[in-house]
Amino acid sequence: MSYLSKTARTPYTCCVESGYQVLAAMTSCRAWSHFLELQRNQWLTRQELEVLRWLRLKQLLDTTYETIPFYRNLWKSSNVDPRKFDALHNMLDLPVVDKQLLSRAQQEDGFGLSAQKGYDVAHTSGTTGIRFQIPFTFDTFQKKYANHLRQMYACGWRLGVASATLHYSGHSQFRGKYTGRADDREPFMNMREAALAVAHRRRVLVPYHSQETGDDEQIRSWYDTLAARRPYMFETLDFNLPILKDFIERHSLPRLHIPKTFVLGTYSRSLRSELQRFFATEMFNRYSPHEIEGVAFSCNVHRGMHMATDCYHTEFLDRRNQPVSAGEIGEIVVTDMENYLMPLIRYRVGDVGHYYEEPCTCGRGMPLMGDLDGRTRDCFQTAAGLRVAPSQVAAILQDEPGVVVFQAVQGDNLNVAVDIVYCSNAAIEDTNTRIRHRFEKLLGPEIPLRLDPVRSIRLEQNGKCCFVKR
Ligand SMILES: [Zn+2]
Repeated sequence: MSYLSKTARTPYTCCVESGYQVLAAMTSCRAWSHFLELQRNQWLTRQELEVLRWLRLKQLLDTTYETIPFYRNLWKSSNVDPRKFDALHNMLDLPVVDKQLLSRAQQEDGFGLSAQKGYDVAHTSGTTGIRFQIPFTFDTFQKKYANHLRQMYACGWRLGVASATLHYSGHSQFRGKYTGRADDREPFMNMREAALAVAHRRRVLVPYHSQETGDDEQIRSWYDTLAARRPYMFETLDFNLPILKDFIERHSLPRLHIPKTFVLGTYSRSLRSELQRFFATEMFNRYSPHEIEGVAFSCNVHRGMHMATDCYHTEFLDRRNQPVSAGEIGEIVVTDMENYLMPLIRYRVGDVGHYYEEPCTCGRGMPLMGDLDGRTRDCFQTAAGLRVAPSQVAAILQDEPGVVVFQAVQGDNLNVAVDIVYCSNAAIEDTNTRIRHRFEKLLGPEIPLRLDPVRSIRLEQNGKCCFVKR
């Protein structure tokens, strides 16, 4: 049985894949061997994967206890010794760490990095407020890249096949060009860029880099590039695609046909099918925060995303750090089983999500999580104090065909204000009536709601458009 997907390939694919194979055999660029191992892992049974995860976790915990003063002290002060663990549920005894705690530990050299050499750093994107650095050895970087490849191969794309990306202006691939942040960079940047240009044949589109959406010239450049380049795979953020669709409709331009699209973000079911139809594309998702590449990825069954339990242990917790049940929304806490230089053990990413119990019909043994439900700090609150996930709020507006983009903001007084960019032919009054009705159902009639028509949406400092904000 071949573990490589057979969909898209060019003669160039064989050259690049063989080249990667030679590199893996003869140099320290071992990404291809890691990748083949990951490809095999995804088809292991659930039981086999559980055994593998436990072995890797155990090894990580034992080594970390010996080598990383920060964790050793943290665990000692919580009276827990992971060297005595003998089952996965013991993980619940370990304290959860967050960006704040890790940044402080880093400043105090709690990971002993001052004595390490030969590593490079990745920054978190800063979306959740705090931006910090994660160091990678070259070998870990190769493993993360292998993870990236596995996500991409799951959609049918292969090396050597044309691709395009449209990210946000604060992405470190732009080296601070739009943000002015001089320290913006990726680990092993030159090698990374060479691989993406030559092996991924990846074209990078110019992202929005003003303070708001609405610049048609910008969108025209996306359209022209995609129309001329015709990538097999297009990777983008959730807000770009509805904007591009609206632009094509307003200018009556010929439709684009993009076979596969990776959307980093979450759409309601109806918006997703509408965009798939419009761009004649099959839409994929992946959960891949900057510091932990490849936590989960979708397959062609499209019922959520497979959690990469061979590399990450992912948990969904309530406010008391106890596991939530399947289908319930919880805070995502990840343990990275690959990075030994600065281990992330029960690391609260700052996102909320949910998981499914049932296996996927594709045959992969890896369990499923749903598409992301948003950032923890952007969860809305009902008058009774219940937490409402950003994805639930966003779905109300995404289900409306008359809405292009929007931003729903809940203030400290719980009042909600929604800025809405409508399509030119939208029946605004009817649309608003439906939106009001659904908001009332979701948050309760006590919460005041204001709907404001606008021409553009203000972007975050890092260039992302945040649909739902607290
Ligand atoms: Zn599947």
